[in-house]
Amino acid sequence: MTAALSIDGVSKRYGSLTALNAVSFEIAQGEFFGLLGPNGAGKSTLINIIAGLVRKDAGTVAVLGHDTVRNFRGARRNLGVVPQELVYDPFFTVQEILRIQAGYYGCGSESAAWIDELLTALDLQDKRGAKMRQLSGGMKRRVLIAQALVHKPPVVVLDEPTAGVDVELRRALWKFTRRLHGEGHTIVLTTHYLEEAEALCERIAVMDGGELRALEPTRAFLDRHPFRFLRIKLAPDAVLPDAIRALVVDGADGDYELRLKAGEQRIGEVLEALRAAELRLLDVHTREPSLEDVFVELTGDAA
Ligand code: ADP
Ligand code: MG
Repeated sequence: MTAALSIDGVSKRYGSLTALNAVSFEIAQGEFFGLLGPNGAGKSTLINIIAGLVRKDAGTVAVLGHDTVRNFRGARRNLGVVPQELVYDPFFTVQEILRIQAGYYGCGSESAAWIDELLTALDLQDKRGAKMRQLSGGMKRRVLIAQALVHKPPVVVLDEPTAGVDVELRRALWKFTRRLHGEGHTIVLTTHYLEEAEALCERIAVMDGGELRALEPTRAFLDRHPFRFLRIKLAPDAVLPDAIRALVVDGADGDYELRLKAGEQRIGEVLEALRAAELRLLDVHTREPSLEDVFVELTGDAA
């Protein structure tokens, strides 16, 4: 089956800065794919190249087999991109923007019903007559999402759609992207919120410094970095043995989080060491690593 997105050897430099260095991967049709990485990793540069907004220095990109340079129209017809930056014409109304966009793709009168459906799904019905400049940031983002979807593209790319939005919109966007995915759309989501990728994405790619660092099913990714956390509560003045202190990643005054490498340090050994030091354990529990924990380990960087 043709890949929804095929990225092959894509490089991009801005002067002396390498924004992307020979990035290659494929996203299958129907996948819910997460693109993760710290600020400056090159995620938006890659998405803007896919969208045909930024010129790459090397490599090829194809959307459902349509080369984004040689067959720009074919690629664009199959692709809907919600950019990270809120770019819009302030003087058009929501409805006008969507109609213009539909006309741009040559969608005929049948698009009116779909636009209505988008406005409803994104909770924008009340705003259809409002000018863009009158809308809040969250509402503008909803409009940009609707705009990216007017031509019903099979491949939908959302660049940090939930960055800086309120909880309500975030929840609405989760529901909406899940629905699109359920209807057969391929979804590519970049996000800073790692629990979001964990909750939504079937497969994730981690980028850092313009390079692809990891690419695998979300579950396998978590399993491949086996460590867990042990939270212990001792008397506030308890002095930890050195071997235990070396494992502490967080906490103070008797309340500590330890990070244990699976297979190397066993929870039983830790508890035994505490007992040997005659420290009384007031409470203990373990925690599985989140994607965020794995991510910090992989990039050496706090997101
Ligand atoms: P991300 O979306 O992962 O945060 P970007 O793709 O926006 O990362 O940026 C990757 C790198 O390229 C960053 O160092 C950024 O400063 C740089 N960059 C992005 N766009 C431009 C540009 N138009 N001119 C110069 N440098 C840029
Ligand atoms: Mg970005």
